[in-house]
Amino acid sequence: MEFAVRFNVLPATLLATLALILTGCSVNPVTGESQLSLISESQEMALGEEQYKPTVQIQGGEYTADPELAAYVSKVGQKLARVSDRPDLPYEFVVLNSGVPNAWALPSGKIAINRGLLTKLEDEAQLASVLGHEIVHAAARHSVQRMQQGMLLNAGIAGLGIALSDNDYASLIMGGAAVGSQLTMAQYSQGHELESDHYGIEYMVRAGYDPQAAVELQRIFVKLSEGQNASWIDGLFASHPPSQERVNANQALVDELGNPGGFRGKQEYSNHLAYLRSKQPAYDAQEKALEMAQAENLDGALKKINEAIRIEPNEPAFYVLRGQILEEQDKSTAALKDFDKAVSLYPEMFSYRIHRGLGYLDADQLDAAQADLKAANDVVPTSIAYLRLGDIAARQGRKDEAVQYYSAIADVEGEIGNEARRKLADLQQS
Ligand SMILES: [Zn+2]
Repeated sequence: MEFAVRFNVLPATLLATLALILTGCSVNPVTGESQLSLISESQEMALGEEQYKPTVQIQGGEYTADPELAAYVSKVGQKLARVSDRPDLPYEFVVLNSGVPNAWALPSGKIAINRGLLTKLEDEAQLASVLGHEIVHAAARHSVQRMQQGMLLNAGIAGLGIALSDNDYASLIMGGAAVGSQLTMAQYSQGHELESDHYGIEYMVRAGYDPQAAVELQRIFVKLSEGQNASWIDGLFASHPPSQERVNANQALVDELGNPGGFRGKQEYSNHLAYLRSKQPAYDAQEKALEMAQAENLDGALKKINEAIRIEPNEPAFYVLRGQILEEQDKSTAALKDFDKAVSLYPEMFSYRIHRGLGYLDADQLDAAQADLKAANDVVPTSIAYLRLGDIAARQGRKDEAVQYYSAIADVEGEIGNEARRKLADLQQS
């Protein structure tokens, strides 16, 4: 029984989202322990459904260049989910287009693994170990428990800067859309980590996988964390701290289960990873291009990103980066063409829509700009989209609509808020 509940320190946005009510004690579906349950199952489901899409997009979006890889990861995940203690959750598994080695779970069984972690694994059993672990976080309501304990506020806000740092619009994301990132970045307790390892191993055995893979994986993680590799520290290790204690506990459990062995799937895994691995040089070139662009070496950056596109012409993120470089070089027509290509490859992605929308706005194509900025705001609301939608409404003579857009961001700090307040005051005077 856990009674360390201080729900007065929950962030206001969560309180508003959840309309928190006391629902009393319930039995944890995984551990069978009785627990204080302040957040009902229907609220848990609503939270997961609501946060899934924005969280996926804020953290890089889906990896779209090889849909078969996503299908494979999903198949392995569903196999484990079916033998879990909550087989009826609306599980979804997604591969994120991020080179940071990471995996996370949101309430209601929404589970993500980054391509940057997939390329580090050696076989299907190791993948099953990552996914099984995340399934337990979702099934045992670990995020929900952390929310109840008010533990997300401090850890979460500190982690958010890291989670969003890859995104151009990180500082511009508004309100509720950032809650999911907070849930995925906050550190789990040692107890929750051990619990996820333990039941994750049981699910692996039930699904026919060799649980020794979970021990190996944990050992690899401990070694990597000792090496202070920055991308690991920003990624998986931030929310799932590895430790020798976890290695030992996993090995003890596998021994207790009688070292049952099972499916490894080395060949299957390497077949399904072959495409992504063959394109890795393109993602390396993208990273170099980004570094060069940040150091204002635009010609070098352009050369590198062109190299990436030659190797992998199906990656929308490459066109967005090239569009940004071209924009810096005042080649706005060519930039818009690249943003258009990115949107055509991944129409749902909010940041691609913002780039193209702002490009249309520069080209005075107001209706097209409006459509893109609205589509972006539907998934991940940003202050920049609100501001420019206000500008478009004002230019098209819809004063009330412009007032609404500017008002929505009137209390946002910084340049964007200042511009909105100034324009709002002008409109209200005229
Ligand atoms: Zn974990």
